[in-house]
Amino acid sequence: MQLKRLIPCYTHVMNLDFLKALLTAAAPSGYEARASLIWKTEAETFADRISEDHYGNVYAEINPPAEGQAGRPIALMGHLDEIGLMVSHIDDKGMIAFLGVGGWDPQVLVGQRIRLLAHDDNTGEGDILGVIGKKAIHVMDAKDKSKASKLEDLWIDTALDLEEVRRRVPVGTVGVIEQPPIEQNGHLISKALDNRAGAFIVLEALRAMKAADVKLHVVAVGTSQEEIGCFGAQVSGFHLNPAAGVVVDVTHETLQPGVEEKKYGVVPFGSGANLAVGAMISPVIVRQMQTVAKAREIPVTLSASPRYTGTDADSLALARAGVPLAVVSIPNRYMHSPSEMVRLSDVQACIDLIAGWVESLNGVQDYTRR
Ligand SMILES: [Zn+2]
Repeated sequence: MQLKRLIPCYTHVMNLDFLKALLTAAAPSGYEARASLIWKTEAETFADRISEDHYGNVYAEINPPAEGQAGRPIALMGHLDEIGLMVSHIDDKGMIAFLGVGGWDPQVLVGQRIRLLAHDDNTGEGDILGVIGKKAIHVMDAKDKSKASKLEDLWIDTALDLEEVRRRVPVGTVGVIEQPPIEQNGHLISKALDNRAGAFIVLEALRAMKAADVKLHVVAVGTSQEEIGCFGAQVSGFHLNPAAGVVVDVTHETLQPGVEEKKYGVVPFGSGANLAVGAMISPVIVRQMQTVAKAREIPVTLSASPRYTGTDADSLALARAGVPLAVVSIPNRYMHSPSEMVRLSDVQACIDLIAGWVESLNGVQDYTRR
């Protein structure tokens, strides 16, 4: 491990308007275009090269090698997709049945407003808003009242006539929760903080590296389709063949009721960046990051991940001949709900840690486990 001289207490000023725009975009797994457009547009303000692939991944690079020259970059991944719904059936009253895109607790969907994304055939007519309907308490029998809703018990109601529903919301239409972000007391509350916050962090870290005149080839990737199986990371990991990587995602904040410190570690709001430790994680990179965190006074915590990580790291770690990587996580409350919550100082710590780590790298790294 080699470290350059470090500047203590380095802080990059993050662009919150960019994060709020990302959070507002409707972009479920497989349909990331609206979020990736915002991400690419921001990347264009400083990155040396921007590209995308057919699978929905977007790439922003600094110091790419000259045309025809090979090289293995450092890859920073944050997934751009959010959990959503997909229309599976329309009944003869115009009520819409749906399947989950990613992991939903059906209880949190009841009564929510859903933005149904306009598709190619209704161009110009725009999105449609619907609400998730459920039998009202007054019409439930005793048995209904005691049981939890399943997705198949719920429906989307758009208030449109049947013919218009069939035309504008055909089977396969996707939707997401409609819920604008709120900033309060140094926290953000929003849908899709899992994981627009991570996609934001990797691009802000890249911006900080550019400002610090880092000479390495670094690629920030807004990955697609994490919530349905980490597929975008599999595709982009193979494409990039990185020398090392960082995956940024959310983890469960541990002051919220019901999240056990015994299982998730001590990861309260204000504890900074969380580093996963475990089989899929490079212990070398974890040590390097801990050294950087100490030198720059960036708060970090550890959590145990003995098998899988439940993030894009599960794909990236196994791409091609394997990629040594770290998982940097943001403490988050109410994951996969319309009102997830993060503390901005923790987001900042993740940016500073990743930028600081790359700035500290000097020459070819040895990631052998000892
Ligand atoms: Zn998720």
